[in-house]
Amino acid sequence: MISLSSKVSELYRVGKTTSLILKKLGLDTVSDLLFYFPFRYDDFSRNVAIADLKPDGNANVIGTVELIQNKKSFKRKVFVTEALVSDESDSLKVIWFNQPFLTRTIKVGDKISLAGRITENQGQLAMISPLYEKIYSEDLIHTKGLVPNYHLTAGLTQKQIRFLMKEVIGLASQVPDWLPKDIKKRLGLLDLERALKQIHFPKNPAEIQAAQKRLSFTELFLRQLKAQLIKGQLKQRRGIAIKFQEEETKKFVSSLPFKLTDAQRKAAWEILRDLEKPVPMSRLLEGDVGSGKTLVAALALLNVALNQKQAILMAPTEILARQHLNSLKKLLSEFDFKIALLIQSQKDPDWEEADIIIGTQALIQEKIRFKNLALAIVDEQHRFGVNQRQKILDFNSSLDQTPHFLSLTATPIPRSLALAIYGDLDLSIINQMPVGRKPIITQIITEARRPAAYNFIREQINAGRQAFVVCPLIDESDRLGAKSVKKEHEKLDKEIFPELRVGLLHGKLKAKEKEAVMADFLAGRTQILVSTSVIEVGVDVPNATLMIIEGAERFGLAQLHQFRGRVGRGEHQSYCLLFPSQEEITNDKTITRLEALTKYHDGFSLAKIDLKLRGAGEIYGLSQSGFPELQIASLFDYENIKKAQAEAEALVADDPELKKYPLLKEKLGEWERSIHLE
Ligand code: ADP
Ligand code: MG
Repeated sequence: MISLSSKVSELYRVGKTTSLILKKLGLDTVSDLLFYFPFRYDDFSRNVAIADLKPDGNANVIGTVELIQNKKSFKRKVFVTEALVSDESDSLKVIWFNQPFLTRTIKVGDKISLAGRITENQGQLAMISPLYEKIYSEDLIHTKGLVPNYHLTAGLTQKQIRFLMKEVIGLASQVPDWLPKDIKKRLGLLDLERALKQIHFPKNPAEIQAAQKRLSFTELFLRQLKAQLIKGQLKQRRGIAIKFQEEETKKFVSSLPFKLTDAQRKAAWEILRDLEKPVPMSRLLEGDVGSGKTLVAALALLNVALNQKQAILMAPTEILARQHLNSLKKLLSEFDFKIALLIQSQKDPDWEEADIIIGTQALIQEKIRFKNLALAIVDEQHRFGVNQRQKILDFNSSLDQTPHFLSLTATPIPRSLALAIYGDLDLSIINQMPVGRKPIITQIITEARRPAAYNFIREQINAGRQAFVVCPLIDESDRLGAKSVKKEHEKLDKEIFPELRVGLLHGKLKAKEKEAVMADFLAGRTQILVSTSVIEVGVDVPNATLMIIEGAERFGLAQLHQFRGRVGRGEHQSYCLLFPSQEEITNDKTITRLEALTKYHDGFSLAKIDLKLRGAGEIYGLSQSGFPELQIASLFDYENIKKAQAEAEALVADDPELKKYPLLKEKLGEWERSIHLE
């Protein structure tokens, strides 16, 4: 008996090979299959009599095969299979290319359903390379109505996966529906069984919509529920009240070589006010690349240290952690604080005694214990989801001493999105750049202009500036032909700029080597730094004014904007030169995308464009930088987000332990585990 927990290998016609392929897609059990949703549907709902066919458009035809034969077209060196299919009204020519085996499957006299595009050639209609399905019963799944399309992997076809879905779809009735009945009723959501059946085999577009509404609510609701549970936990805890040290803070601010922007002031004020309360803060600080988030964070760190409590600052990479260490040491040099580094490759011996500890994920390992941690800041951690926040919450905290929490991000997420993702976090936004920032002049450079571009780079460097060169991947063996950093480094160092010093940075270097490379570049001992995308986040070298990106089309707009944000941080005019691969220069889509960077300089505008160009599946920054556990389309559904939040809030208020909802509790645990694995 096949059940939800049966392995896919137990299904009819699934052998060892197929089950391994399915495993690659994460499809291990029947239940996994049911929750593997189509990403689009072909519309073959236009079932037309042959006599009524019109050229240009999709159609579905049902008829009998009158004739089928292979021909070899010598001129074009292709196999052509031609068939004649007729229904009561007329007959139609059908053509397939390079599928000679079709004559073995489709025989004269077969009843067949065809779905595809109708074209006209010399006054005669024909169907070219249609999908086909032999008719044994009336239950067609590949060629009739709305036909689901799934993401595939090598060795698997749409037909195979649809066939499997058809086989298991009946088991949808056994999937426990964990969403409380009254919520479904209030919001008009389908039962899970119906939603599953309709998402795979919809009868009409309305059925798809209703199913999507229910299924996307799942994620939003679980996330909000988790957020509300965390919020509930936080309410019961006590944070450490950090008294605002007005005098020292003002002195510090006035000692800076620049004026804080109003937005920085406002954000800092919101944070410092939260810190004064004896309840743990949960706040997200959002600001575009270069908007000066570090400084706002520094004001919080300063106040905690002045209160003789500890604070940590966690960065996503060791390079960035070191950079924060250096800049904070400089910024806070007037004060007598101990600032320590704690990363995989280096734990400052006295970190336990330090006021401020800067590091990577190494900071929140099980064994690490801080003496009196009052504030945890996480920088540029786009992946920081609700689960990791639970980790921080549990980490180094007790009922009467839970650290305040602040997350810094440059991902330009609108308020609704922040609400969907974080639910319980308060939001501060820096929507203003420091004055005097000049837009970074951005250009797409074709191969023909490469020598001129190199001359320009040379001039800039001779005038005292420095340049980053970013390349997509590390190995030349990369079959996509991405420029290898090593090769690029060799070329620039030996051939193009033999008189200049060129550094090389990539992920395979040892920590010590990376550190040395960065130190050389910061000190100006190297003038060009060739790097993989490791420099993407946060690196701050004010004297660098050139950002050169090879194979630019290989990166998303979000990443390119991050790269570009590495320059334009000092007083000099900065430039970003985008070099697309040669074969991409004629690709309109690529060029449109890159041109957006030449015209727009803020993350929000670029986000909108990315959304338009790429569709909801790969929205700006999100697919690259996190939130894998969310179906991103649902994130923009503000109405549903608000509803999910209200329902989760009410439910948690009424039953904080979810005692009345065992199924829901189980589902939540399952969901947390699943996002934890990613
Ligand atoms: P991000 O928000 O991307 O983390 P940073 O905090 O690294 O940006 O700041 C970028 C640069 O701008 C740093 O060199 C910083 O010293 C400088 N900076 C920060 N605030 C201001 C300001 N108000 N005026 C001028 N420069 C500033
Ligand atoms: Mg930063």
